[in-house]
Amino acid sequence: MKKTIKDFNLKNKRVIIRCDFNVPIKDGKITDNTRIVKSLETIKYAIRHNAKVILMSHLGKVKTEDDKNKNDMRIVYNELVKLMKKKIKFVDNTRGREVEDACANLKNGQILLLQNTRYEDVDGNLESGCDLELAKYWASLGDIFINDAFGTIHRRHASNYGISKFLESGVGFLIEEELKSMLPAIENPDNPFVVILGGAKVSDKIKLIESLVTKADYILIGGGMCNTFLLSEGYNMGESLIDKDSIDFCKNILSKYSNKIILPIDFVVSDQFKDVSGNIKDISDISDNDIVMDIGPKSIEIFKKYIKDAEQIIWNGPMGVFEFKNYQNGTKAIARATAENLGITIVGGGDSISAIKMFRLEDKFSHISTGGGASLKLLEGGSLPGIENIEDIGEYNILKKKHL
Ligand code: AMP
Repeated sequence: MKKTIKDFNLKNKRVIIRCDFNVPIKDGKITDNTRIVKSLETIKYAIRHNAKVILMSHLGKVKTEDDKNKNDMRIVYNELVKLMKKKIKFVDNTRGREVEDACANLKNGQILLLQNTRYEDVDGNLESGCDLELAKYWASLGDIFINDAFGTIHRRHASNYGISKFLESGVGFLIEEELKSMLPAIENPDNPFVVILGGAKVSDKIKLIESLVTKADYILIGGGMCNTFLLSEGYNMGESLIDKDSIDFCKNILSKYSNKIILPIDFVVSDQFKDVSGNIKDISDISDNDIVMDIGPKSIEIFKKYIKDAEQIIWNGPMGVFEFKNYQNGTKAIARATAENLGITIVGGGDSISAIKMFRLEDKFSHISTGGGASLKLLEGGSLPGIENIEDIGEYNILKKKHL
């Protein structure tokens, strides 16, 4: 259990909060402000406890002067003012006299937002390359560091790993929620533990499979991923998406864990990658010009049985090309069955989240992890440099099941 913002006395302290304000922007407008909204709990807590709050975040990639204009933090500033309904100070810089004065002059309960941390990448990649001089400088602006940017905890940057090397540090509510929901489920799973994997490529999920296959009772594989597994067993997959570099991996893991890895036995196929209705075919009937678009009805029934009997489920990746109306059935059925399970149900990964939003099932899971790459790293049991320097102060409790 990582030290959190609640473990500090914040009064009169300059508290640097590393947020994830990396929102999508189109034509100069924020298209989804979820990340800013999700940061508010930690910011409001710090204000309520009379801290002087310094907010830092990255926004997009900044490699050139032109990127600076595209990723100016002022757009986040305007949204933040609207959401907080409060005056907020902004400094159009990431270092220098103006930054130092603004930090030094903050009063209790005031908020200051600094310019995009990645402006420091233009000249020498200092933020993303984790320059420790820069990190030390940023640390000198505050008394306490709180990291609440879950989306970047798998990255070793100056504004997360770096600052926490030089200041007393803790995590904010967002990171705490992710850690306490996911870590016990991976380290101490409840059995039967079923992992459901889908999405496009096997190669993105090799580490995840290797790490979960020893802990899970069953791994159900659908989506584009299962094509490569089935091809490695000698089936004709026609024109379906295949991850050639992963064929050997699939073959090896299947030979070791054939009893745990459950693959579909039928599919909805088409002869074109378009949103037109397809045909249901058994795995052995796939012809040379077929493209697998979704898992078929028999496979759905098999997967549902494993899901029904599970005490813990982790789901990452859609079962088919769910963006097309004609190929949503598999993903919808698996999402619904998982939502109905009364054990621990965790959903991670961008596309599974889009899918459950599409089917309006957002509030039906124990935990939805929003971190993309960070969620994947956490599930893999990989290293998380962004929180590495934050003290561990105990174990997380196991998530409560829906039926208890
Ligand atoms: P990922 O980001 O790896 O989770 O992949 C998500 C993407 O996988 C979605 O855009 C789906 O359309 C795609 N996908 C799922 N099933 C298939 C399939 N059978 N063939 C091609 N793409 C698929």
